[in-house]
Amino acid sequence: MRYLEEMRDHPTVDQIYKVLRRRLPSLSRTSVYNALSTLREAGLVRPFSMDGNETLYDANILDHGHFRCTHCGRIYDFDVKLPEAEQIELKGFKTYRRDVLLWGLCPICAEKPECENIKSIN
Ligand SMILES: [Zn+2]
Ligand SMILES: [Zn+2]
Repeated sequence: MRYLEEMRDHPTVDQIYKVLRRRLPSLSRTSVYNALSTLREAGLVRPFSMDGNETLYDANILDHGHFRCTHCGRIYDFDVKLPEAEQIELKGFKTYRRDVLLWGLCPICAEKPECENIKSIN
Protein backbone atom coordinates (compact mmCIF):
# COMPACT_ATOMS: atom_id res chain seq x y z
CA MET A 1 0.00 0.00 0.00
CA ARG A 2 2.83 2.36 0.86
CA TYR A 3 4.47 1.60 -2.45
CA LEU A 4 1.25 2.33 -4.35
CA GLU A 5 0.68 5.51 -2.37
CA GLU A 6 4.20 6.77 -2.95
CA MET A 7 4.63 5.80 -6.56
CA ARG A 8 1.22 6.66 -7.98
CA ASP A 9 2.47 5.22 -11.25
CA HIS A 10 -0.22 2.58 -11.88
CA PRO A 11 2.06 -0.46 -11.65
CA THR A 12 1.28 -4.01 -12.71
CA VAL A 13 1.63 -6.91 -10.27
CA ASP A 14 5.01 -7.72 -11.83
CA GLN A 15 6.32 -4.20 -11.39
CA ILE A 16 5.25 -4.14 -7.73
CA TYR A 17 6.79 -7.55 -7.19
CA LYS A 18 10.13 -6.59 -8.77
CA VAL A 19 10.51 -3.42 -6.72
CA LEU A 20 9.40 -4.88 -3.39
CA ARG A 21 11.54 -7.98 -3.79
CA ARG A 22 14.64 -5.82 -3.60
CA ARG A 23 13.60 -4.85 -0.09
CA LEU A 24 12.00 -8.16 0.87
CA PRO A 25 13.94 -10.98 -0.82
CA SER A 26 11.62 -13.67 0.57
CA LEU A 27 8.53 -12.07 -0.93
CA SER A 28 6.56 -14.27 -3.32
CA ARG A 29 4.45 -13.18 -6.25
CA THR A 30 1.46 -14.88 -4.62
CA SER A 31 1.86 -12.65 -1.56
CA VAL A 32 1.71 -9.60 -3.80
CA TYR A 33 -1.46 -10.93 -5.48
CA ASN A 34 -3.03 -11.68 -2.12
CA ALA A 35 -2.15 -8.29 -0.68
CA LEU A 36 -3.58 -6.55 -3.74
CA SER A 37 -6.78 -8.51 -3.58
CA THR A 38 -7.17 -7.65 0.12
CA LEU A 39 -6.55 -3.94 -0.61
CA ARG A 40 -9.01 -4.14 -3.47
CA GLU A 41 -11.71 -5.68 -1.31
CA ALA A 42 -11.10 -2.98 1.29
CA GLY A 43 -11.61 -0.37 -1.43
CA LEU A 44 -8.05 0.99 -1.13
CA VAL A 45 -6.83 0.20 -4.62
CA ARG A 46 -8.58 0.13 -7.95
CA PRO A 47 -7.52 -2.22 -10.67
CA PHE A 48 -8.04 -1.03 -14.23
CA SER A 49 -6.75 -1.66 -17.71
CA MET A 50 -5.83 0.64 -20.58
CA ASP A 51 -5.51 -1.95 -23.33
CA GLY A 52 -7.21 -5.05 -22.02
CA ASN A 53 -3.96 -6.95 -21.49
CA GLU A 54 -2.36 -5.89 -18.27
CA THR A 55 -4.10 -5.05 -15.03
CA LEU A 56 -2.81 -1.86 -13.47
CA TYR A 57 -3.26 -0.92 -9.83
CA ASP A 58 -4.22 2.56 -8.77
CA ALA A 59 -4.04 3.94 -5.23
CA ASN A 60 -6.08 6.95 -6.29
CA ILE A 61 -9.61 5.73 -5.64
CA LEU A 62 -11.34 9.04 -6.34
CA ASP A 63 -12.96 9.33 -9.77
CA HIS A 64 -10.37 10.44 -12.28
CA GLY A 65 -9.42 9.88 -15.88
CA HIS A 66 -6.29 8.30 -17.32
CA PHE A 67 -4.13 9.49 -20.18
CA ARG A 68 -1.63 7.02 -21.59
CA CYS A 69 1.27 8.36 -23.60
CA THR A 70 1.70 5.96 -26.49
CA HIS A 71 5.37 6.91 -26.84
CA CYS A 72 6.80 6.63 -23.31
CA GLY A 73 3.99 4.51 -21.88
CA ARG A 74 3.47 6.72 -18.85
CA ILE A 75 -0.03 7.02 -17.48
CA TYR A 76 -1.17 10.38 -16.19
CA ASP A 77 -4.13 11.04 -13.90
CA PHE A 78 -6.46 13.90 -14.55
CA ASP A 79 -9.53 15.19 -12.77
CA VAL A 80 -12.76 14.61 -14.57
CA LYS A 81 -16.41 15.37 -14.03
CA LEU A 82 -18.76 13.20 -15.98
CA PRO A 83 -22.18 14.78 -15.96
CA GLU A 84 -23.02 13.40 -19.39
CA ALA A 85 -21.54 9.95 -18.89
CA GLU A 86 -23.36 9.67 -15.57
CA GLN A 87 -26.65 9.91 -17.40
CA ILE A 88 -25.88 7.06 -19.76
CA GLU A 89 -27.90 4.04 -18.75
CA LEU A 90 -28.04 1.08 -21.10
CA LYS A 91 -31.29 -0.81 -20.93
CA GLY A 92 -30.83 -4.16 -19.24
CA PHE A 93 -27.23 -3.40 -18.25
CA LYS A 94 -26.10 -2.61 -14.75
CA THR A 95 -23.28 -0.07 -14.73
CA TYR A 96 -21.09 -0.03 -11.65
CA ARG A 97 -18.15 1.99 -12.83
CA ARG A 98 -17.31 4.59 -15.46
CA ASP A 99 -13.85 5.41 -16.75
CA VAL A 100 -12.42 8.04 -19.02
CA LEU A 101 -9.39 6.78 -20.96
CA LEU A 102 -7.37 8.92 -23.35
CA TRP A 103 -4.40 7.97 -25.52
CA GLY A 104 -1.90 10.30 -27.12
CA LEU A 105 1.40 12.04 -26.48
CA CYS A 106 2.40 13.56 -23.16
CA PRO A 107 3.90 17.10 -23.24
CA ILE A 108 7.45 15.73 -23.06
CA CYS A 109 7.02 13.29 -25.96
CA ALA A 110 4.96 15.73 -28.02
CA GLU A 111 8.12 17.88 -28.24
CA LYS A 112 10.26 15.02 -29.56
CA PRO A 113 11.09 15.21 -33.27
CA GLU A 114 10.38 11.49 -33.78
CA CYS A 115 6.83 12.03 -32.55
CA GLU A 116 6.05 14.85 -34.94
CA ASN A 117 4.06 12.71 -37.35
CA ILE A 118 2.29 10.44 -34.88
CA LYS A 119 -1.43 10.99 -35.19
CA SER A 120 -2.85 7.69 -34.03
CA ILE A 121 -1.83 4.66 -31.99
CA ASN A 122 -2.22 2.42 -35.02
ZN1 LIG B 1 5.38 10.43 -23.17
ZN1 LIG C 1 -4.98 6.81 -11.73
